[in-house]
Amino acid sequence: MNTPSLPVVNVEEKLFQNRYRVDAGRPHIRIREQAGCRRCQTKPCIVCCPAGCWRLEEDGVDLVVDGCLECGTCRIVCAGGNIDWNYPRGGFGILFKFG
Ligand code: SF4
Ligand code: SF4
Repeated sequence: MNTPSLPVVNVEEKLFQNRYRVDAGRPHIRIREQAGCRRCQTKPCIVCCPAGCWRLEEDGVDLVVDGCLECGTCRIVCAGGNIDWNYPRGGFGILFKFG
């Protein structure tokens, strides 16, 4: 029996169809303490975020919420609870499926 082949999906192309309204100066996700990130051995937020919002820095991690998909993955994988996570204010944040 033939198994149906799955369609090839280009994730970056799909993400490009979204739009994001920046709430300047009011990021909806914050790192509570950089010291906690420096102690964090595995830094799962960097590899688990589908939007690439987290980056490894020499003194911890950097977070830029522009493009955040509001999936909540970073909050779940941060075992130390070092992330203050909220939805954006109304009218800001991700707008799915444009283009
Ligand atoms: S998982 Fe949490 S504590 Fe670890 S680097 Fe990411 S935000 Fe910091
Ligand atoms: S909520 Fe999802 S998309 Fe947004 S920063 Fe966290 S892991 Fe990335």
